[in-house]
Amino acid sequence: MKDLTFDFFVVPFALALIALLGILAVKYSGWIRGFSSEDKNLMRKGIFSVKSLYALKEVFTESLLHRKMFKRNILLGYMHMSFAFGWFLLILTGNIESRIYSRVHINPPYYPIFLKYFVHDKRVLTFELTSVPGIFRFLMDLILFMLLSGLVLALIKRARSNWFGLKRTTRHTVFDRTAITALWLIFPLRLLAESFTAGQYLGGGFLTNNLGRLFANFLPVEYLSYPTWWAYSIMLGIFFITLPYSRFMHIPTEVLLIFLRNWGIKPSKGSSNISEIEVYSCPRCGVCLDACPVYAVKQNSTPPVYFLQTVRNNKIKENVTFDCLLCGKCQEYCPIGIHNNALRISQRAAFFNNSNGSFDYLPQPLIRKADVAYFAGCMSHLTPSIKKSMLSVFTKAGIDYNFLDADGSICCGRPLIMAGKEKQARLLREHNRNLIIGSSCKVLVTSCPICNKVFKEDYNLNIEVLHHTQYLLRLVEEGKLNMVKSARKVVYHDPCELGRGSGIYEEPRILISKIAELIPGANERTDSICCGGSLGNTEISSGKRHEIKNLAIESLLINQPEIIVTACPLCKKTLQNDTEIQVADISEIVVGALAKNEPATTHQKMEINPVLW
Ligand code: SF4
Ligand code: SF4
Ligand code: SF4
Repeated sequence: MKDLTFDFFVVPFALALIALLGILAVKYSGWIRGFSSEDKNLMRKGIFSVKSLYALKEVFTESLLHRKMFKRNILLGYMHMSFAFGWFLLILTGNIESRIYSRVHINPPYYPIFLKYFVHDKRVLTFELTSVPGIFRFLMDLILFMLLSGLVLALIKRARSNWFGLKRTTRHTVFDRTAITALWLIFPLRLLAESFTAGQYLGGGFLTNNLGRLFANFLPVEYLSYPTWWAYSIMLGIFFITLPYSRFMHIPTEVLLIFLRNWGIKPSKGSSNISEIEVYSCPRCGVCLDACPVYAVKQNSTPPVYFLQTVRNNKIKENVTFDCLLCGKCQEYCPIGIHNNALRISQRAAFFNNSNGSFDYLPQPLIRKADVAYFAGCMSHLTPSIKKSMLSVFTKAGIDYNFLDADGSICCGRPLIMAGKEKQARLLREHNRNLIIGSSCKVLVTSCPICNKVFKEDYNLNIEVLHHTQYLLRLVEEGKLNMVKSARKVVYHDPCELGRGSGIYEEPRILISKIAELIPGANERTDSICCGGSLGNTEISSGKRHEIKNLAIESLLINQPEIIVTACPLCKKTLQNDTEIQVADISEIVVGALAKNEPATTHQKMEINPVLW
């Protein structure tokens, strides 16, 4: 019998595949052409280096096996894996099988996809008869079964998202809905097409053969098989054509993103092509919905899953762009690692006329030279007990320091960045940089976690920049502070910018453990809930801020602490309003724990109220 190698039903699949590849080629080459020469250089160096092997490994573990999804929830991980890895295996195994059958190295792309139409009877390969009977038919049916099990889970997820670790599922666009319908029909149609064909010719594996025999008992399989192959091809075609305009564009784009990241290409400040690639890499999995405190109290379009959609469709809305605390929790949850904060900030700039502005009016303080410079930050000036505690500690530890913003007149520039006013922020940074460099300090200590991050990342200072939690711990470990430990129960609130923003989780905990009994809250470290006070959100009402604060407090009070300790002036200010128990900054409890038999110190002279210990 002469083998068939073509039928007209393959045309919808083949044409759509060609169109898809063309669209991807245009899109990707446009992105890569727009890279800076530095990024292009990184690409050239990376392609033939070991970094590409690391990228391949990451593609396997993340894009195919969905390791991060598995860590979040086993059912969610399995659902994503069965689609991604299952389809990959179906293509790979089908290709190997089709090559062995056709005895040529290259088949047309449609041939492995529709192989059971072309090679449909009981014929098997010689080695399948002698050594491993029907191995390919068994494997292909097993993989199809895996894909169908993922499909069943996807259907269940629409009704029971909590089984998958998600409180809610995402809204679909028209393209999403079309692509998802096609995707959900592709594999059942393949099963039916192969089963009808198997019922007609008695081929197939454990699944399709048995189903085919069953169908043949009560259905005219010889009339049904051919139209079902057509339907299967058409569904594949619809999926390919809608893919670039739907959430499924993430499938190829995520692979590109993984390679680019491994080659060292990162989103720069402001919008860039790599940021756009991140936008297209979002599968709209909805994991960020549960992370977002704004969504928890407003059920709105704030989470990245919806914000990125507005960026991708060039329909950025001012209220959505500014309705975000920039707390970074979604970034921690996101399996793709999309830099939501950087994207949001770069989009905010679009709403401003970025006039140059000037900061000439700022006073030029007389700078005294000292090894340690202290920058309290404007929020610390509004919570003076923190600033006073730090000055007290400096004196007590015998540190020669220079209080850079003693007159409270300067800001690190972060509010300007958050408002999208990058040019003005740059001018302010230059002003501050001259001030810091002029002090000839070796260490810059900040009390505000935001200032700390900004000085480290945006100022290019070439000196050590420490948050006061880190500096206080250093003084204790060097024996410069003598503290008395109390039995009081303390819970620690991770400020967003210190924890998720700068990765400083351990130092405050070690320091508190030396002073008091540290007990956990319900949401710790990367999972901590924003206090709601963030100045990053200019859209949210005070009522909704209050609700977010209550979520944070509820989580902190779960184990009945006596004091809430934090390490950010804004968190302290926000949490202390309406909270039944005392809220303190870590610097204040350090001052409170200083040995009482020491001589009078500056903090006592300054009449601050150290936490009663
Ligand atoms: S931003 Fe991340 S977490 Fe949110 S939907 Fe996209 S991939 Fe999922
Ligand atoms: S940064 Fe925070 S507030 Fe903004 S979208 Fe992410 S989780 Fe929500
Ligand atoms: S980051 Fe915030 S608290 Fe720190 S100086 Fe700037 S505005 Fe003030």
